Amino acid sequence: MSDLILFWHRRDLRISDNTGLAAARKQSPKVVGVFCLDPNILERDDVAPVRVTYMIGCLQALQQRYAQAGSQLLILRANPMQAIPALAAALNAKAVFWNWDVEPYSQERDRTVIDALKEKGIQFLEQNWDQILHSPEEIRTGGNAPYTVYTPFWKNWSSKTKAKPVETLHDVEGLTEVEQEIAKQTGAIALPTAKELGFIWDGGLVIAPGEAAAQARLEEFCATHITEYQEQRNFPAVDGTSQLSAALKFGAIGIRTVWQATLEALENSRSDEAEANIRTWQQELAWREFYQHAMYNFPELAEGAFRDAFKNFPWENNPEKFQAWCEGRTGYPIVDAAMRQMNESGWMHNRCRMIVASFLTKDLLINPQLGEKYFFQRLIDGDLSANNGGWQWSASSGMDPKPLRIFNPASQAQKFDPEGEYIRQWVTELRSLDAEYLVTGKISPLERRALGYPDPIVDHKIQQQQFKQHYQQQKQG
Ligand SMILES: Cc1cc2nc3c(=O)[nH]c(=O)nc-3n(C[C@H](O)[C@H](O)[C@H](O)COP(=O)(O)OP(=O)(O)OC[C@H]3O[C@@H](n4cnc5c(N)ncnc54)[C@H](O)[C@@H]3O)c2cc1C
Repeated sequence: MSDLILFWHRRDLRISDNTGLAAARKQSPKVVGVFCLDPNILERDDVAPVRVTYMIGCLQALQQRYAQAGSQLLILRANPMQAIPALAAALNAKAVFWNWDVEPYSQERDRTVIDALKEKGIQFLEQNWDQILHSPEEIRTGGNAPYTVYTPFWKNWSSKTKAKPVETLHDVEGLTEVEQEIAKQTGAIALPTAKELGFIWDGGLVIAPGEAAAQARLEEFCATHITEYQEQRNFPAVDGTSQLSAALKFGAIGIRTVWQATLEALENSRSDEAEANIRTWQQELAWREFYQHAMYNFPELAEGAFRDAFKNFPWENNPEKFQAWCEGRTGYPIVDAAMRQMNESGWMHNRCRMIVASFLTKDLLINPQLGEKYFFQRLIDGDLSANNGGWQWSASSGMDPKPLRIFNPASQAQKFDPEGEYIRQWVTELRSLDAEYLVTGKISPLERRALGYPDPIVDHKIQQQQFKQHYQQQKQG
């Protein structure tokens, strides 16, 4: 058996601050990366072209990083459950290392790969966490149960010491020419473009792919907006958030690096107010982890509502209303602006994600799972745990103790887009109107027709009553 360790990248597309990769390098001077374009994922009907485009960009950047470090990143396009063990065996690798993931499919896949590696006598790295700061086993209640409420989770999670970033891969040996030929014969291919994989995205990316771009974004955010985050993050017309979500989803940046940057920002902060803002951003990172732990501990979340009152909820699921929501033609300007932002840019502001999710479930009485899937088909940062968590929170079907949160689109717009800037940016046919009309949505039918903008497809007041009635019946029944 050779010295070779294959490092299998999945959602950790970087060589810096990568715990599994650093562990591989410690055990051997010869470490080669591999990424598998998995048909079990890419052939699903919820893959967003923008997300694949970003991912391929990250892989391109990762190949360069490997080359600079002295090694290679191999690309496979096959079912990893067979392809990874087969490649490891063909290259006579002593081990395959990877970082653990919380998602149900990933765990099933990894168990199959482990069985195959065991059969071939190839070593692997036991449950190694990288994408979260604390493992689900570390953060448990006093009674040793998983948390189902965020606040106590945060208290426990934030009190624990966090690991520092780990060493970047360097001075490493790659495959010989003969071994590269063997890899090719075992399925290694040149990295295809997103288009070659059948995904076409011409809309630009909110964040450039790769480690360097993610690091630069983090530094810029921590030098500027982080100290005003608490207030600014609520205004969709303002660039007040980090837009690091896609980089975190694909691991173009390590979470320890991100945390370290918040600690440095705290050290450099000059007021209690600035400190409070930085802590609020840290809390968002904890939400990300809360939902990942939730998915790991309760994989049934991926299949539907957590709370009983929503398991048989009489959703109306009207297809025309759903279509209008998807296309941003509901006649509610803030909702339509948000949906168009996602359709056109592949990203949506968090405040607006909450507004449109509340609108779909509580105004249109449409099953949140349909919205969750539509988001996944469109978002650059589409992530099972965060998306599911956000939808369950908005639909009130999740772990949240506050059951009936109903957003009024007009009051949300009045509060968070008071000048109608965001609405004007995305609902261009309404550009000429004064802010007052944009935010309240009080636009006459005549004017709507003249501007080519639809009438409201439902009445918010009536719909929320209807939703509440259904909810009470479900709770009693
Ligand atoms: C219905 C709905 C669906 C969502 N779907 C996704 C999704 O598919 N992928 C995704 O990454 N986020 C999702 N979110 C959470 C949140 O909207 C995004 O993480 C955030 O808007 C990304 O922008 P940012 O990077 O500028 O965030 P920042 O405000 O800069 O926050 C920093 C990071 O913290 C994490 N984060 C922030 N808020 C949340 C949150 N509420 N839940 C979990 N993590 C959070 C993200 O990783 C984010 O990049 C969803 C929220 C809702 C309400």
